[in-house]
Amino acid sequence: MLDTDFFRRWMTAAAAFVDREADRLTALDSPIGDADHGSNLQRGFTAVRAALEKEAPDTPGAVLTLAGRLLISTVGGASGPLYGTLLRRTGKALGEEAEVSEEQLAQALRAGVEGVKTLGGAVPGDKTMVDALVPAVDALGDGFAAARAAAEQGAEATTPLQARKGRASYLGERSIGHQDPGATSSALLIAALAEAAAG
Ligand code: ADP
Ligand code: MG
Ligand code: MG
Repeated sequence: MLDTDFFRRWMTAAAAFVDREADRLTALDSPIGDADHGSNLQRGFTAVRAALEKEAPDTPGAVLTLAGRLLISTVGGASGPLYGTLLRRTGKALGEEAEVSEEQLAQALRAGVEGVKTLGGAVPGDKTMVDALVPAVDALGDGFAAARAAAEQGAEATTPLQARKGRASYLGERSIGHQDPGATSSALLIAALAEAAAG
């Protein structure tokens, strides 16, 4: 079973990965965006880390809804509301239980990803975070490491795609040949989940 501390570790690991990869995320957002994705997420996860220390939410669902709320209020851009929705929806789906199973987390995350798709209107293949999140959720039944690998593959597979959503879509065919920054950060979020599962 996955307890509240597992979810705190997930968010803390996500904050650490975003810190480590912020420059790369911003560099990816430079040719097909406005070069702010790394700094946007760094601001958001820094706020999440601080709030988790201060507020000490006491259920898995409360950790994720708190994180989602903070991402919405601090990240800005397209990705703030989308990541905020992902975590809030996932947290809400986990309910108020003190511990949840991997199966419950997989189902809740699926609900969260559905929330992202509804809010942003993107489907797989549109060159967005959805291209990493959907394969990750599909692979989660095979374990956290499988989900991590699927998300990384999904992010890499955005390179040859033409963007159909978000800022990158304004570039039309010129968006081809660049890895999507949001798919890349989604792969980091799933890598952080695998990290939390590893201890
Ligand atoms: P902004 O483009 O507003 O500067 P960010 O740079 O923080 O926001 O985030 C950009 C990322 O957000 C993109 O790489 C993409 O993955 C994701 N994104 C943008 N629009 C959408 C959408 N409609 N649906 C899903 N993801 C989206
Ligand atoms: Mg941007
Ligand atoms: Mg921006």
